[in-house]
Amino acid sequence: MRKHIVAGNWKMNNGLSQTQALISDLKKQIRTSDAEVMIAPSFTNLWQAFQSLRQDDIEVVAQNMHFAENGAYTGEVSPGMLKSIGVQTVILGHSERRAYFNETDESLAKKVDAALANDIRVIFCFGEELADRKSGKEEAVVGSQIKNALFHLGVNAFKKIVLAYEPVWAIGTGETASPEQAQDMHAFIRKILADKYGSEVADNVSILYGGSVKPNNAQEIFGKPDVDGGLIGGASLKAEDFFAIVNAF
Ligand code: PEP
Repeated sequence: MRKHIVAGNWKMNNGLSQTQALISDLKKQIRTSDAEVMIAPSFTNLWQAFQSLRQDDIEVVAQNMHFAENGAYTGEVSPGMLKSIGVQTVILGHSERRAYFNETDESLAKKVDAALANDIRVIFCFGEELADRKSGKEEAVVGSQIKNALFHLGVNAFKKIVLAYEPVWAIGTGETASPEQAQDMHAFIRKILADKYGSEVADNVSILYGGSVKPNNAQEIFGKPDVDGGLIGGASLKAEDFFAIVNAF
């Protein structure tokens, strides 16, 4: 049985007091759920978020990390640093990191290896741009992003990966892939995983959809058989909306 996961990516939003306020709102909304629930505050608020959510069923995850363990990388945060405060999951390869911080399949492969070497689970993001979809290249683009960054992993390492399909044209734009487009892509992803790692591994990997998931469309998207949850940006900044999405399962 695949895990259902709903993860809120707060991006570069919320200082300390806003983090505390949003977490206190989230706590009021927590219900028993079939889905694993995660939030990803910025680095400066991770520790506070951990302290506040110690007793609760919300995992605190990081939005990014460097691949090196330490050294002369001004402004960066290492896997060991995340581990030292209790982080067990990191988001890697978000399209904003790829677009604004020059992250490539090659640098992401190194980050994936570093996370797994530190026993940190990875939510690996990828997705095509609008021009790719318009020219019918979406499967080729997504397939190569996955192969280049992940297919060097052995089966056991791969089992620690959660995938997040995020068509770039749907992130923060208010436009979503239709539930059918999401399902088609997720089924394609599962097929290439089955070809590489076998159908048992492919059947067990959670594949999340991200791109303007809101309370009013979550149920239809999550209702598709190969969609195992969501990576939520804008709607994760309001506790009520976020939990309406979690409860869509
Ligand atoms: C995201 O940042 O991963 C995302 C999906 O954002 P939004 O939900 O705002 O489109």
